[in-house]
Amino acid sequence: MTDIDGNAVAAEIRSGVADCVDTLTDAGVEPALATVLMSDDPASETYVSMKQNDCEEVGMRGIHVDVDDDAPAEELYDTIDELNDDPEVHGILVQLPVPDHVDTQRVLRAIDPAKDVDGFHPENVGRLVGGNARFKPCTPHGIQRLLAAADVDPEGKEAVVVGRSDIVGKPIANLLFGRGEGGNATTTVCHSRTENLAEHTRRADIVVAAAGVPEMITADMVSEGATVIDVGINRVERDGESTLVGDVDYDDVAGKAGAITPVPGGVGPMTRAMLLYNTVKAASEQHDVDIDLP
Ligand code: NAD
Repeated sequence: MTDIDGNAVAAEIRSGVADCVDTLTDAGVEPALATVLMSDDPASETYVSMKQNDCEEVGMRGIHVDVDDDAPAEELYDTIDELNDDPEVHGILVQLPVPDHVDTQRVLRAIDPAKDVDGFHPENVGRLVGGNARFKPCTPHGIQRLLAAADVDPEGKEAVVVGRSDIVGKPIANLLFGRGEGGNATTTVCHSRTENLAEHTRRADIVVAAAGVPEMITADMVSEGATVIDVGINRVERDGESTLVGDVDYDDVAGKAGAITPVPGGVGPMTRAMLLYNTVKAASEQHDVDIDLP
């Protein structure tokens, strides 16, 4: 069994992104990512500060805007408009979820598609589905890179995605069955209404678990030698302590899988690395500067 080391693959991508930052800076463009947070949820605050630290690490400019979580929705839309109009901002990420009084779909539509480094604007979703992605969403793109790093070519294989969310399940399914490198798999999407889930997952050469259910994928649900990608990040109590587990029962499945991603240290670091990747890509396209994307 091979552990797929997301930290190592992400470090390589970050290093390639840092080279892109140098190229852009030499051409007079200082790539910049703006994060916007309208929430006092500690997990969201942590995610945003990690993204800002990541920017600093690769030499990229990070800008952060806090919007009061009880401010009118207009304040968030206005903030996005200002960032859209600012030529020194290349990527915009609004940390989700936003408060209930804010329309998430309107937020996603408000971001300039050319700066939409999450890839959630309907135009960018459409391009991905059409096989002509501008920004691949960060988690699915990271998964594709992990498969490549583990020398797993999805072409012709059976892939089963567990979860149909807009941010993970749907886009990774599209990338896996789509044409091109890292695609061409025969792909099944399972979800909360799927009957006999194990019958599907047992057939798979590649299982992508993105359900948000702690350790739901057990050894009896995967075939011998399968590649198992665990997207889940679930906080659970174990022996009186709070700990993070994935959607895969790692100890159980590791003995049977051919390759598996750990949690933490698998998909998580890749999501962050691909956000940096999308930001230098956005900067290079907005300023027409050639870069050598990693
Ligand atoms: P979500 O709640 O939006 O979607 C979960 C999906 O799983 C739904 O489509 C639902 O139908 C399906 N599902 C739920 N229970 C199921 C079951 N018992 N059997 C089959 N399908 C089931 O979640 P999401 O945003 O896609 O995130 C999924 C998990 O991945 C969460 O744990 C989240 O924290 C994690 N996540 C991790 C990263 C990362 O970078 N590692 C990024 C995004 C999300």
